[in-house]
Amino acid sequence: MAAGVVDEDGGILDRWQEPTPSRSPKAVEDAIVRAVEDLRKRYRVEAVGIGAAGWVDNDQAVVRFSPHLAWRSEPLKARLSGRIDIPLIVDNDANAAAWAEYRFGAGRGSSVMVCITLGTGIGGGLVIGGKLFRGSYGMAGEWGHMISVPDGHWCECGNRGCWEQYASGNALVRDARALARTNSPTAYQLLEIVGGDPDKITGPDVTAAAIQGEPTSVELLADVGTWLGRGIANLAAALDPEVVVIGGGVSAAGDLLLSPAQRAFSRTLTGRGFREEARLVLARFGNDAGLIGAADLARHAMIEPPDSAQFGFWPRRRKRRASKARRRRQPLRTRAQ
Ligand SMILES: [Zn+2]
Repeated sequence: MAAGVVDEDGGILDRWQEPTPSRSPKAVEDAIVRAVEDLRKRYRVEAVGIGAAGWVDNDQAVVRFSPHLAWRSEPLKARLSGRIDIPLIVDNDANAAAWAEYRFGAGRGSSVMVCITLGTGIGGGLVIGGKLFRGSYGMAGEWGHMISVPDGHWCECGNRGCWEQYASGNALVRDARALARTNSPTAYQLLEIVGGDPDKITGPDVTAAAIQGEPTSVELLADVGTWLGRGIANLAAALDPEVVVIGGGVSAAGDLLLSPAQRAFSRTLTGRGFREEARLVLARFGNDAGLIGAADLARHAMIEPPDSAQFGFWPRRRKRRASKARRRRQPLRTRAQ
């Protein structure tokens, strides 16, 4: 869990970190309260934004499900609002990260921005016309589960052939290990790096080896990049974005990922040769994106009218605080993941 005090320009003024107590929702709740109380001792905090790693409903109140935490239909906002006496919002962490890139980062000011976070799977966020787009039920942006390969690899979502099974950190590791197990001479160098055990190969190992110029690792990343570019072309057919921001751990590979992605994207894009192409760019904020974005979403919830559909219900009495918040330049968010 990372928390921080974030100013109105997206700058992080202070930080707080603790290992996430993943087994117990109550323990996570306690940790969030601890973070807020600790940071409030040093700053005049006006609002709290939470970027939760899970499916958040469209009222931004309940975490329906979290793959890595014990949240199952967890009324996170209600529970925390009872213990934290300042305005508070809950959103999905990928939405929060996308918002940070739109407001202060690589997608700043774009008309339609798609954010793709490549971690173990694919996270996503979409900003259209200056608004975070959440869909009708809060589930927009789950494009990691668009089926790319009929009857392909099984996915934890219960389907086969999802995009994230081909363009993600997990895909990179799975393919690297599978190649290494064949005892192919092409995997020799990569195996040497991990002491000869294919099961010890990690995503960062492959990326580090590729950056050093190890040819097989370069190819493995190019495969992921190619799948990434094809998927982005699919998204472009549906959404016609101006910018596609690519973040997450795998994006540390930089051009080793982005160049093949760009080639595959341009090769697959509908209407190519007769249209403008979206720019594919690397994210600016890395691991801090969720933290910065959640804080800024909380700030915007205070400034926007309380009946704004974007933020759902916002207590009427907080309306007065909006102008104060603008003057004081002190919001906060905490993040549980
Ligand atoms: Zn899936």
